[in-house]
Amino acid sequence: MKKKKPQPDLSVVLPVYNEVENLPELRKRLTEVLDGLGRSWEIVFVNDGSRDGSLELMRTFTEEDKRLRVVSFARNFGHQMALTAGVDSARGRVVAVMDADLQDPPELLGEMLAKVDEGYEVVYAVRTKREGETAFKRFTAHMFYRLLHRSSNVKIPVDVGDFRLMGPKAVAAFRKLRERHRFIRGMTAWVGFKQTGVNYVRPERKFGETKYPLSKMVKFAVDAITSFSYAPLQLATWFGFGVSLFAFSYIVVVIALKVMRINVAGWTTLMVFILLLGGLQLFLIGILGEYLGRIYEEVKRRPLYLVDEELGGEDEEVEGDEEDVFDLRSTHRDRGNPPDAR
Ligand code: UDP
Ligand code: MG
Repeated sequence: MKKKKPQPDLSVVLPVYNEVENLPELRKRLTEVLDGLGRSWEIVFVNDGSRDGSLELMRTFTEEDKRLRVVSFARNFGHQMALTAGVDSARGRVVAVMDADLQDPPELLGEMLAKVDEGYEVVYAVRTKREGETAFKRFTAHMFYRLLHRSSNVKIPVDVGDFRLMGPKAVAAFRKLRERHRFIRGMTAWVGFKQTGVNYVRPERKFGETKYPLSKMVKFAVDAITSFSYAPLQLATWFGFGVSLFAFSYIVVVIALKVMRINVAGWTTLMVFILLLGGLQLFLIGILGEYLGRIYEEVKRRPLYLVDEELGGEDEEVEGDEEDVFDLRSTHRDRGNPPDAR
């Protein structure tokens, strides 16, 4: 009789990019919480090209505890790719994704899991308050979530990060989404099913600095908007309509001035209009470029990420009929990811 790899009840996915200081406490608190839940579990760390000894530390973790595993990337592929790889590799029935800097308190997992038991497929954590973040970050985040909520055709909940639990149906659906520019909070909203939120106060990052400087945040925001809305593309239509309307009414003015033989010195007006329209056109071409570049990246069909090595977990050979998870993974293989891309 061939043996099947056991499926844990819960997988916790943690993207790790230079978090060596946070890892010991994270492991301790998370293990305590998970042991208290009375379910089988595993932790999947995704090492996103760390250079501070995080990988070496996680290697010792996996040697000490078989329930801890590491998927290590060939380079830094970014937070959203790390989450994706973690969910792809997770063996649990329910999958949790959370940050490795203890800003997503493990203590919330019990409450979230209870919601999954109630039949919710996606349970996200809503930040009612953020501690230790600058007024600028809080303000831009506030505006961003609301703008996104308005412009997108998928109703993405506001003030929600990536901290969430996904049930089996949501996980299976999520694994089928292989787009390159990934805004995971939007993608998990897009899949549908029964979704709900759990409130929490987002604590300060424990150690180290944010790995999201302003430039990455802007990129993230643009990815979010372009992934879930084409409203920016329609801006050209609206501006074009407005300008044309103005131009037509202005013809009347020009004719009237001609009839009255009034000569206007129009240099200033001309300059203003030329610059205004020039700027507007370049801006709108730029928006086209954003979408075009994303289309270009999609058609290249490169794998989303490359794994350098995988550590830990149970070693026994998987034989016989493959698990459901493996069947699902083959879906993205078909969609352009070679098997070693996981
Ligand atoms: N992270 C990652 N790759 C990156 C940047 C960040 O895996 O390129 C991880 C990081 O280690 C952390 C999580 O993503 O576990 C969230 O990052 P961070 O706390 O810096 O973001 P913030 O909370 O400031 O938005
Ligand atoms: Mg953080």
